Amino acid sequence: MIKESHLRGLLGPFFFRQIEGPKKMNKALWTISAAALIISGCDNQQPPSALDDGMAADTVVINAQVYTDGTSGSLQSGFAVSDGVFVAVGSNEAVEAYIGPNTDIINAQGNAVLPGLIDAHAHPWQGGEKVLYMCNFAFSATPDELASTIKRCAEDPSASEWIVGGQWNSNFFVDNDIDSPRAFLDAVSNGHPVFLDDDSAHHGWANTRALALAGVALSADTADPEGGKFVRDAAGVPNGVLLESAAGFVSSVIPPRSDEEKIAAIAAVSDIALGYGVTAFGDARVPKAAMAAYQAADERGLLNVHAVLYQQSYGHGADWKPLEPVAAYDARAAQFNSPNTYGKAIKFFLDGVPTASRSAMMLADYTTDEKHPEPTKGMQMIATDDLFNAVAAFDRDGYLIKIHTAGDGSVKLALDAIEHTRRENGSAGLPISLAHAGYVDESDIPRFAALNAVADFTPYLWYPRPIIDSVIQSVGEPRGSRYWPTKDLLAAGAPINGGSDWPAAAADMNPWPAIESLVTRRHPTNGSDETFWLEQAVSLDTAMSMWTTRSADVMNIGDLTGSITVGKSADFIVLDVDLHQIPIEAISEIAPQQTWFKGRMVAGER
Ligand SMILES: [Zn+2]
Repeated sequence: MIKESHLRGLLGPFFFRQIEGPKKMNKALWTISAAALIISGCDNQQPPSALDDGMAADTVVINAQVYTDGTSGSLQSGFAVSDGVFVAVGSNEAVEAYIGPNTDIINAQGNAVLPGLIDAHAHPWQGGEKVLYMCNFAFSATPDELASTIKRCAEDPSASEWIVGGQWNSNFFVDNDIDSPRAFLDAVSNGHPVFLDDDSAHHGWANTRALALAGVALSADTADPEGGKFVRDAAGVPNGVLLESAAGFVSSVIPPRSDEEKIAAIAAVSDIALGYGVTAFGDARVPKAAMAAYQAADERGLLNVHAVLYQQSYGHGADWKPLEPVAAYDARAAQFNSPNTYGKAIKFFLDGVPTASRSAMMLADYTTDEKHPEPTKGMQMIATDDLFNAVAAFDRDGYLIKIHTAGDGSVKLALDAIEHTRRENGSAGLPISLAHAGYVDESDIPRFAALNAVADFTPYLWYPRPIIDSVIQSVGEPRGSRYWPTKDLLAAGAPINGGSDWPAAAADMNPWPAIESLVTRRHPTNGSDETFWLEQAVSLDTAMSMWTTRSADVMNIGDLTGSITVGKSADFIVLDVDLHQIPIEAISEIAPQQTWFKGRMVAGER
């Protein structure tokens, strides 16, 4: 793992503060070797010498509040780990039987120990590259702040040819009158081509040089690419704002990172995840080059999480191509196989996002205003027949499938596709995830359980915040505020998971504020009492299960991880508090003291 001091150097002080969390870690936990235990005369009932050799464990945790599945109903006192898996879970007496002369003993002194958390939907390879290589500014950046950040990056003599950065707020061009977005960047780009992602990571913003390098002619005759739009000025000339596949059309000419840079990004994101206590994640769009980087990082011991890699389906932007046969995805899954990755998974993008871009596919029209005078229901990016055929074909071959469905229209259509698939293939297939299913027509809520379709609850948009304002303004009331019906879906038996979607929409991968705000539906840190559809609040136990067992099950890794259970991978975290005894407002401040993966401590301190 990257040591903390190294990480600080790599990520800079701002990022490190986020990893460390707002709370000072205390040193209450202590660990001792079995030998020291005997010498100091502690009253260990089970002298190591009395132990039958075969039973001695590598590590034994005692005196803990072990929440074996993260919830308050699953309490035990300790467990034993051998060869990277849990071999016993139970009372102190039961697990002390596993202590031998070389056993590493962790006395948790009454603190909470949980299974490693699971972020079922993130974009980790992109997050790693953002942290290491991009020109970054806050979602809340004003035009002045954004301009000065780009200027600083563009004037850095060590800057590479392209300045790539982000992420501007979804409402940036609604809230700020910017005559020519590309000229705005030209003024601070110091001759560099500039490309900036928005906070949903669906849309882009480029300067004139970047458009030229991508072959986008500054003419009203320039056609929009398939599945995207060039936003235009009054004369119909592309103004630099790029919606959906138009963003990929431009960004695809940015020279790719080197193999070593890509591998470093995977290593960095593995450490970032572990710092938050996340020991498994789903990467929701993985092109071939990123699969190769995951494999190489894993082979070097730099990937210390279980990673489910949802292969990119159609390609992106200018790389758009027809769907390849299932065998092509099978071949890549086999070629890039490695111990901690799982590549028999695929991601489809059925629509966009319900922000000011109005690109998510809704059942009813978005609002109209001066800047959006045409009524629209958003975009459908895969033809209905193609979607039905593709979902059925990949399900038949045993794939984990994730479909991006950010509007109630795309949710309904995807459920129709799954219904078709279950009819064709039988219902024994794997769960099929509907990513960002925050808007769900009431009549569709019972269909999730019936079809084994997953409400993939990402990103953390269930409390008041700027991107929510953009969404509500675009979707319109009253339905705009009926977003993330967690309680209704759970009551209807829907499979459901949590996930950050980072670096899209979430400022970081930290699951703790998300867990707290599922319970409070309030902003986790700003102290405001304002809530967002409070009727949909769930219990802490339910929220925890969305980052443990539920997420494991929907990613088909429930036999491998997600709970502290004999036979599963010894992935666990040690806290310096008991999360089920502290006020709910303190959950967002949790920073794990230690994170263990496959029986090894991979983050934190002892
Ligand atoms: Zn995503």
